[in-house]
Amino acid sequence: MSELVGERYLPYNPSPRLYEGGREERVHFNHLNQSFGTQIFLLPLLCSVFTGCVGVPASQELAVVTRAQMQMGTLVKITAVARSESVAQAAATAGFAEIHRLEELLSTWIPTSELSRVNASAGVMPVSVGPETMTVVQGAIQAAEMTDGGFNVAIGPAVDAWNVIEGRHIPIKSELQAFLPLVNLSSVYVDVRAQTIFLEKVGMRIDVGGIGKGYAADQAVMAMKKAGALAGVVALSGDIKTFGQLPGGRRFPVGIQHPRKEGEVLVFIDLEDEAISTAGDYERFFERDGVRYHHILDPKTLQPARSCQSVTVIAREGIWADGLDTGIFVMGVESGMRLVESLPGVDAIIVDHEGSVHVSSGLRDRIRKP
Ligand code: ADP
Ligand code: MG
Repeated sequence: MSELVGERYLPYNPSPRLYEGGREERVHFNHLNQSFGTQIFLLPLLCSVFTGCVGVPASQELAVVTRAQMQMGTLVKITAVARSESVAQAAATAGFAEIHRLEELLSTWIPTSELSRVNASAGVMPVSVGPETMTVVQGAIQAAEMTDGGFNVAIGPAVDAWNVIEGRHIPIKSELQAFLPLVNLSSVYVDVRAQTIFLEKVGMRIDVGGIGKGYAADQAVMAMKKAGALAGVVALSGDIKTFGQLPGGRRFPVGIQHPRKEGEVLVFIDLEDEAISTAGDYERFFERDGVRYHHILDPKTLQPARSCQSVTVIAREGIWADGLDTGIFVMGVESGMRLVESLPGVDAIIVDHEGSVHVSSGLRDRIRKP
């Protein structure tokens, strides 16, 4: 079991020592056509298997392996840098295996997963879960606390009511109000000592889709390191974690999607031992009478959150990059940036509802315009 999982829960802790080895980065792919896509572009250095990279002395030739698989309902792309191709391949395999293991625990599409069992027992009884599920759900609750309730792990029933992808249904106010008790986090009971989770009301559901991919990237990176990788990237759609450097001492360059110009990069940034994640209103949406209805809901109103177009968070761990982007999207630029500036090791690029770009102090010297 990994170090991170060994924590009984995962309080945000500014001390980097606690989470050494749990660093992550995030890139968004369009998982349908497998091109780099919706939110963040991982630049095309991750394209093939090759050895003897430019800039690396012959005595230190490194192998770089990139492989992709569908996992957790999305395209997962892993790049491993190691001293030999066989070690790089083994590290990539270990990363995919770890994500598969976590999917079996956390997916709500798998009826036997721990989270599915928690949801099936909503309103009935607490359910025992393992340390990974405990860690992610604790992380989700902490993300809710940090973002003043902007992030809400129980919001699934309301998201379904909107059915932004297929239904194009605009629920009326009374319809939405009926969901408020089901998305109330005070009805989620996490008993750390007993290692159980209980959802108080029938019809409640928790879904870690807004934080679990970042956590999986963290865990996959640890598995890769254990398998001998010196550096690499794990990208679950837009949830990306990097560790180490590319051959030649380069950091991993990432481009952040412009929220209103499809396929255009807003800014570039180079990452090392960092995770990145973006929440945007352009990922899943429909328009009616000039109004954009998208998939990120404000838990207080259950209406699409209106204060941002996109929020990109960079953190040491994927669980926080992923866990914070959606919540900060709901909070808006002012309180969102205040939160980011108060968290060591956390940075953000926020595009507000008017399209103005706000960059946290730690990133101002790091971003490049295209
Ligand atoms: P993805 O990387 O899949 O886009 P995000 O981290 O951006 O995931 O989370 C978006 C998903 O989270 C939405 O598809 C929706 O199901 C769910 N969601 C919507 N609003 C919220 C919210 N306020 N808090 C937590 N999850 C939310
Ligand atoms: Mg997220």
